[in-house]
Amino acid sequence: MQQLVFATNNAHKLEEVSDKLAGRIKLLSLNDINCQDDIAETGTTFRENASIKSHYIYDKYAVNCFGDDSGLEIDALNGNPGVYSARYAGGHGNHATNTAKVLQSLKGMTNRKARFRTVISLVWNGAEHFFEGTVDGTIRREVSGTAGFGYDPIFQPDGYTVTFAEMTLVEKNAISHRAIAVEKLVAFLNTL
Ligand code: IMP
Repeated sequence: MQQLVFATNNAHKLEEVSDKLAGRIKLLSLNDINCQDDIAETGTTFRENASIKSHYIYDKYAVNCFGDDSGLEIDALNGNPGVYSARYAGGHGNHATNTAKVLQSLKGMTNRKARFRTVISLVWNGAEHFFEGTVDGTIRREVSGTAGFGYDPIFQPDGYTVTFAEMTLVEKNAISHRAIAVEKLVAFLNTL
């Protein structure tokens, strides 16, 4: 069976992709290939960061690989937090302070338009392929809901009256930016 590394150790992401691959390709994590390296996300776009990860693994381990990068783009903040979504308020991965900073930055603003974006870079036999997913929505004026992670409690996808954090995981994964990008990746892999 062909093997493919997903440049992550995030169990949720690994499960989402391996479920969709339905056993056709063996998916490996960074731990599975004994990679403990901290791959620096030094890019200024999601595409660059995804590409840095996939190329790093492909070049060092000579295995087919993909990497992803995601974040929230807010129109009234010129696309921020964007690639800085995980560290918008400083401390890496502090979802509560990141969310509070967004609400503070948008205080009094009427343009609440935003989108989540995911870009996947796949390096397969040396050739790079990109897959992208976006979901449009608006930023609420206060947090609502406890499910999910990150900016989910303030993001209401277009066509819904609830935030991502008020949806079940199944509901969110049916429409999320990540799910859309993963579907495209899996559709491509299934043609190989
Ligand atoms: P990652 O590249 O998927 O690890 O995402 C980077 C950051 O973007 C996360 O730490 C979150 O702050 C934000 N983010 C990405 N996807 C989501 C999502 O589905 N919900 C909420 N926040 C997200």
